[in-house]
Amino acid sequence: MRSTNLVRGGSAVAALTLCASALVLVGNQASAAAGCSVDYQANQWDTGFTANVTVNNLGDAISDGWTLEWDFGGNQRITNHWNATITQSGQHVTAKNPDWAKGLAAGGSHSLGFQASFSGTNDKPSSFKLNGTACTGGPVETTTTTTTTTTTTTTTSEDPGNPDGHVANPYAGAAGYLNPDYVTQVNTLATSTGGALGTAMRKVAENSTAVWMDRIGAITAGRGLRGHLDEALRQQAAAGRPLVFQVVVYDLPNRDCSALASNGELEVSKNGLARYKSEYIDPIASILGDSKYRDLRIVAIIEPDSLPNLVTNTAKPKCAEAKSSGAYVQGIQYALDKLSAFSNVYNYLDIAHSAWLGWDSNIVPAVQLYTDVVRGTTNGFGSVDGFVSNTANYTPVEEPHLTDPMKTVGGQPLKSAKFYEWNPYFDEADFGAELHRRFVAAGFPSSIGMLVDTSRNGWGGANRPAGATGSTVDDYVNSGRIDRRLHRGNWCNQTGAGIGARPQASPRPNFDAYVWIKPPGESDGIATKTSGPNEEGKQHDPMCDPAFRGDQQSNGGNLTGAMPNAPHAGVWFPAQFKSLVENAYPAL
Ligand code: BGC
Repeated sequence: MRSTNLVRGGSAVAALTLCASALVLVGNQASAAAGCSVDYQANQWDTGFTANVTVNNLGDAISDGWTLEWDFGGNQRITNHWNATITQSGQHVTAKNPDWAKGLAAGGSHSLGFQASFSGTNDKPSSFKLNGTACTGGPVETTTTTTTTTTTTTTTSEDPGNPDGHVANPYAGAAGYLNPDYVTQVNTLATSTGGALGTAMRKVAENSTAVWMDRIGAITAGRGLRGHLDEALRQQAAAGRPLVFQVVVYDLPNRDCSALASNGELEVSKNGLARYKSEYIDPIASILGDSKYRDLRIVAIIEPDSLPNLVTNTAKPKCAEAKSSGAYVQGIQYALDKLSAFSNVYNYLDIAHSAWLGWDSNIVPAVQLYTDVVRGTTNGFGSVDGFVSNTANYTPVEEPHLTDPMKTVGGQPLKSAKFYEWNPYFDEADFGAELHRRFVAAGFPSSIGMLVDTSRNGWGGANRPAGATGSTVDDYVNSGRIDRRLHRGNWCNQTGAGIGARPQASPRPNFDAYVWIKPPGESDGIATKTSGPNEEGKQHDPMCDPAFRGDQQSNGGNLTGAMPNAPHAGVWFPAQFKSLVENAYPAL
């Protein structure tokens, strides 16, 4: 949450846009001015490279498709590409617009990218052609008529902006984006289920969920980020009020470094940070910065679990590497720098949940780390709007029967119960309020706001306790807690969990919203052992196996409480969806 109409860090500079204006003086025949320039940025290692190619249209608008061509000077071979359809014949490369980007406005640009192998030299191509016209940096007349055209080219810095400015709380007064793909998935299951349960299932689909960019391919696969944003524009127009579109930025190298279930495609040791920047953040930023989307309120949820892993899990080699290389910190700073350039984008950094960072020994270094990370960005404190807790986790917003961690039972404070292990924060309401206090003390503006992912922390259903009783702290806590996990460290496909509070704005002081970041019914990780990672890098984590007894650090050596037969992380898991609906609180 930020103060009203604040323009981020005083800098409203976004993408550099080249605008060409053509003044046609005399003409006896229709004519078209064509012209282009190309920015080509390569990032190379021994045997390969990735390149970002931005084509700027300096001529008249192109509405019906375009082709960009160039020749490599060496033996470069494209192996993978995005944001264009690319074919290569010998040294000649032809890149055609993707379906969703047939048009190229006058002064507009499009970024595409590719990965290639090479040996020897890797010089930048010496010339490019857009629809057959050489990209020489200025418009040229394509007809030989008597028309006289005077063209002035000006360079302006444009912020796609937002008519309301950067509002204090993007959720206030706004509708939420309904992802049509998710809605279809839910409604299909609701139809085949039928009855009262089917009706309850349908209600889930009326709530906004986030769209996860969980790999480079997600930017373009299926509907793709642009497709979602186009649909968001349509929904906003239909709603007649501002609309929040939530996107999860989730592809750091060595992702999910202390677990296996959501490991990703990039690795620190394989040029992961450079690839994260050029192949992942840059394309996302170029889409979000498109002026077409200037009126949407775009909330970016930044890198779940990453900084928290640097606080508590650096004994694990992949987290140690993420820390010593600086990859997590630099990746997040890069993302914040890029995204905070757009005043209609609102950045929220993921900050784990109370059962992870609640102890003083964790919360103190966490606040320090986040403060350092944010201070190190170009816009400093102006680059974030707040923090999001409980992303894809199960910790309740409130423990209604255990409101005072210092309350004594049998002479002991409730926080000393085995379930709480002396962690004084039992729920996200208390944890978020405390984080807000600490961040403001550390220098953040008091306008920052908290979000809580309430998509799966409802803990309703028949087993929800109505009160607490007992003469020992353990009996009292175990009888009264609504969080019915076997241990607070259990995180995978939790049995008995239910959908929580519906997404809503300003639910309590200093909280911008309750949000649904994890779409209910998408798995946390595969239950049974697999021979190796899948094509996205996801692996079997024993914490997703219902028969596994964890270890002391992860879950006190308890069973995992995971549901059986779960598919890989992110994959639709109907049995879990059904259980989440049955245990929803409030009921659906
Ligand atoms: C997975 C992502 C998925 C997200 C939402 C994460 O656990 O790793 O692939 O998009 O959950 O379901």
